[in-house]
Amino acid sequence: MRIGEACRAAAAQLRTAGVPDPAWDSGQLMSRVTGLAPLMARLSERELTAKEAAAFDALVQRRLQREPLQNILGTQDFCGRSFAVDGRVLIPRPETELLAERAVRALQDFGSGAHALDLCCGSGCLGITLALEVPSAQVDMADLSEDALAVTRKNAERLDAQVSLLRGDLWDAVDARQYQLIVSNPPYIPDEDCLALQTEVMREPLMALKGGTDGLDFYRRIAAGLRKHLLPGGVLLLEVGFDQAERVAELLRAAGCETACHEDYQHILRMVEARWA
Ligand code: GLN
Repeated sequence: MRIGEACRAAAAQLRTAGVPDPAWDSGQLMSRVTGLAPLMARLSERELTAKEAAAFDALVQRRLQREPLQNILGTQDFCGRSFAVDGRVLIPRPETELLAERAVRALQDFGSGAHALDLCCGSGCLGITLALEVPSAQVDMADLSEDALAVTRKNAERLDAQVSLLRGDLWDAVDARQYQLIVSNPPYIPDEDCLALQTEVMREPLMALKGGTDGLDFYRRIAAGLRKHLLPGGVLLLEVGFDQAERVAELLRAAGCETACHEDYQHILRMVEARWA
């Protein structure tokens, strides 16, 4: 079979299986197998070798089982860098890049030697971006999951980022350490909503998604530890669920902060920024 033809046949199969973006996905998978750019693959008249055909089929089968495309390809771009991902971590989302950009600016403002923390670091996309963009800062990365930290470590090595990895249940991971900047994209989906997620999202670690009855458990725990861990003059930057910004900001004001909420690309209030009042 020709490469383009195989792409179209796979796209038709993926469409039948309910995959949201079948032509895109089949092009990406074919690109992985042949080394051609995805669009070139979709147009190519070259015959697939038997080896390529078998490799392509194996990848398409995984996608038919609704394994996320990023996990099949093994990478996801975040702020212009390629992060390794697999089923052990949350796949970095585009809106989280906005949180990273704000965090980078805040960390730059603190000047040389500032201490930053990425709480619930998962793949490491936030903390590693901070460490690479602000090399003079000292960045700690914390997660409860040993599995997630293995991916964080892999990404820190892959991207040559100098970061310290800490394992523990939220604040337990950092003992008595204090920071100028704390950034976190914690699990925030209400438990009940976790039962009806998009098929691909169900393949991501539940631990990285599930935020308690109202989804706010981690924000309450973050607020409770702030006195101990956020230095005077420090900044906390959080990602929140689509309807949580006001409630999270309220929690933080009750903990003694002043707050500001910021929108994502879809004009959803997606970030909460807090400083000591
Ligand atoms: N910090 C990672 C991210 O933003 C992981 C977040 C998580 O596991 N909840 O993608």
